[in-house]
Amino acid sequence: MTDARRAELAENLTEVRERIGRACVAAGRDPGSVSLVAITKTYPAGDVDLLASLGVTDVGENKDQEAAAKAAAVTASLRWHFVGQLQRNKAKSVVTYADVVESVDSLRLATALESAAGRLRERPLDVLIQVSIDGDPARGGAVATDIPALASYVAAAGHLRLGGVMAVAPQGWEPERAFDALAGMASRLRADHPDATVVSAGMSNDLEAAVAHGATHVRIGTSLLGMRNTLR
Ligand SMILES: *Cc1c(COP(=O)(O)O)cnc(C)c1O
Repeated sequence: MTDARRAELAENLTEVRERIGRACVAAGRDPGSVSLVAITKTYPAGDVDLLASLGVTDVGENKDQEAAAKAAAVTASLRWHFVGQLQRNKAKSVVTYADVVESVDSLRLATALESAAGRLRERPLDVLIQVSIDGDPARGGAVATDIPALASYVAAAGHLRLGGVMAVAPQGWEPERAFDALAGMASRLRADHPDATVVSAGMSNDLEAAVAHGATHVRIGTSLLGMRNTLR
């Protein structure tokens, strides 16, 4: 069973790496300039260990309870990304296992993470600002006008490190248009914070468009691990 699953994951991983490579070539980019974050939500710790044994270095989760348990069960050493909506009261849990929180979209959350990281971590926590591409804050993400103040807070915080931006293409938007808009937001952030170079964008269905528009990290779940059970 593990052997069959390992073979399946290996095949999917090869395919995803080839897609990233082809997208880089098409965009005239170095294939080494795009990092893969395997989104392992709903899949067991055993799958995470298998992915690690196949060379995956970064994994992402979107629910604290599930992520905390999985991070504790996984034996491989990995970089854990938190990519989901995060309640402030979960900050003190997340900072104990996450290396990167990609979904920081409010000053209130950033403040909670700064305080928790100061108490519970030895090293600073990497933070990405999740931005709302369509300006609708209802689905998460900071709107353009709120980004400068949030970025300044994170950049000045002693226990956080500003890495860049993260976004999900809005429903109903052409990925090309969405990631083009994101590239503009990322570039405005870099004007004030030159080290904030990360652009986390692109999922199983739209990674090519994200790479074409400058994504440095793609977050891939379904294409690597299979369809998630939506009844869960
Ligand atoms: C689930 C998830 C992904 C991965 O989506 P797939 O379509 O399964 O590749 C990426 N980013 C976030 C924020 C997610 O919640």
